[in-house]
Amino acid sequence: MASLLLRTLIALSILFPSLAAQEMLKSQPPVWSGKPEIAAFEKIENDHMAAAQRAIDQVVAVKGARTIENTLAIFDDATRELNTAIYLSQLMQQLHPDTAYRDHATAMTTKISGAQTELSLNQNVYQALASVDVSKVDPATRYYVQRLLLEFRLAGVDKDASTRTQLKKLQDQLTEDQSNFDRNISDDPRSVDVAPSELDGMPQDYIDRHKPGPDGKVRITTNYPDLFPALDFAKSDSLRRSLWEAWMSRAYPKNRDVLFDMMRTRYQIAKLLGYSSWADYNAADKMMVKGDNIAAFIAKLDTASRPIAEREFAMELAEKHKTDPAAKAIFAYESFRYSELVRRSQYDFDSASVRPYLPYPQVKKGILDTAATLFHVTFRQELKVSLWDPSVETWEVIEQGKPIGRFYLDMHPRPGKYSHAQMAPVLDGVRGKQLPEAILECNFPEPTATDPGLMNYGDVETFFHEFGHLMHHILGGQQQWAGISGITMETDFVEAPSQMLEEWLRSPQVLATFANHYKTGEPISAEMVARMNRAAAFGSGNSVALQNALSAVSYDIYKDAPEKIDLDASVPASFHRYTLYESVPAEAHFYASFNHLGGYSSAYYTYMWDKVIAEDFFQQFDQKNLLAGDTPMRYRRTGLEPGGSMSANDLVKNFLGRPQTMDAFQKWMAKEFDTASRN
Ligand SMILES: [Zn+2]
Repeated sequence: MASLLLRTLIALSILFPSLAAQEMLKSQPPVWSGKPEIAAFEKIENDHMAAAQRAIDQVVAVKGARTIENTLAIFDDATRELNTAIYLSQLMQQLHPDTAYRDHATAMTTKISGAQTELSLNQNVYQALASVDVSKVDPATRYYVQRLLLEFRLAGVDKDASTRTQLKKLQDQLTEDQSNFDRNISDDPRSVDVAPSELDGMPQDYIDRHKPGPDGKVRITTNYPDLFPALDFAKSDSLRRSLWEAWMSRAYPKNRDVLFDMMRTRYQIAKLLGYSSWADYNAADKMMVKGDNIAAFIAKLDTASRPIAEREFAMELAEKHKTDPAAKAIFAYESFRYSELVRRSQYDFDSASVRPYLPYPQVKKGILDTAATLFHVTFRQELKVSLWDPSVETWEVIEQGKPIGRFYLDMHPRPGKYSHAQMAPVLDGVRGKQLPEAILECNFPEPTATDPGLMNYGDVETFFHEFGHLMHHILGGQQQWAGISGITMETDFVEAPSQMLEEWLRSPQVLATFANHYKTGEPISAEMVARMNRAAAFGSGNSVALQNALSAVSYDIYKDAPEKIDLDASVPASFHRYTLYESVPAEAHFYASFNHLGGYSSAYYTYMWDKVIAEDFFQQFDQKNLLAGDTPMRYRRTGLEPGGSMSANDLVKNFLGRPQTMDAFQKWMAKEFDTASRN
């Protein structure tokens, strides 16, 4: 009898999640598919906020013993409602085609963020959560409560009333400044107008896409599909330099005051909470723990990367000497061109030659297919879903016939659109309640009837990167609680899964599945992939040095009182200290468009910190066939699925069997000079 009951239960548990999941996705229409006008959008948002408030009131009103069910579960609902609201407002702020809509969305983000701050300073809620007995609960729930209480304390919940009022004001100010900082960047796409002859050296599809206007000039914007090919391939030094200067000057001078305001506000918040600087405060809930550790990490990377960077630099300078025998220096904007020339002369590889194998539609299919195989899921496009722009696609993530999440692809530039590349959560997944959703916001070349939309190698790498984030959010989004779902975790871990997936682009088997010449259909040869990989490895030392310089900018402007910081000197100083290239004056203003100084603030080191972890992770896979064996599934189970349900250090240890080391990273950095890997 018992065994029969047990079997029935097992059967039901197999059946039910499947049915429930099908139902869940049906009752979860794609975001924005109702095409709400501004008023309707605001109603949706206000309804979520009202639902959150009802949940908060319910938590506070509990009489008697506090339990997971009557306190944590209700609090988690409030979190989920507020997250849903702010994900949508940020989405509209970054992606909606109408300026007026974006303005309303920005105001809505400020309002929701204000509610989140208010919640983080609510002493009744804090007390309620602190009173929940977690001694007998599962480890994930216990960890969640422990993290929550830490975040509450870091918000200042245990400070006196006047300090909390002050903190609330400062946080609201910060949200507004951050929105303005981002908007000023999106709203300032710069361009240069040049004679058609300046395009000498550019790939033909690029020239075809840039026809002269009535004034006989060609307009080249700083949008990535325009910018990076020009820096790599244009023979004209003046085109590359003027484009670089335009790019470095975006949002300047507008963002100068905005950034300074953010620095001041953040410093005040840190001081009120008993920290010596924002960098120190901001590290407290991360793997890094302390500001000093950031400085130590930057110094360690500098030592590790410098010999390799110097070796690469000497090769680039030798290239420059071919046309300028007396040259002693290379400008940063020239480095793209000279690395490209080294790739041609030393590695027999022309980056332009791979573009015809990388038209956007094929790359998209290739990346989706690769991720599907690697993570044991399938993807199904939901047709007839119309969103804010006709180019945006909606996809379901399916496992064993049942949906486990959904994502959107908004992949091409538009006026006023977010100008970088990112994955953003759209919904937190909560087991049995809500499926996770995410979006990629990118700026890749758009295919048209006459233009295949050929991508640069770097674009494809970015696509893999962002897809790594997306899978992390979806696969980690099957948790019991919204507050530990997907990428809601120590934020200096989240660039590890994304950077690790970039490595899949190096695999000949993976490339062979999608890199076919757009005209002839001929697949990319293994020999070409081998040359491409060797060539692409060139420049790792200098790229680490550049990332280190940017980490230093991000740390330096937040490590002290803002009055002591000369903003206009910070970028040149770090570039000079950590990179080997010469600066042009416009680089001094790069901070104005360095969007991570808003969101990541002092934690830009995250990229390199996680690159160390990513390379260590990557070495666990079968290097001859990255999709083979049980490592992909083990990685999914131990690295991605836990989401924020345990500390990132434990997660790393669970996959590696030990803490991360620098060995794999060192090996990656020196790969171009490793003769063994040349075969
Ligand atoms: Zn990323």
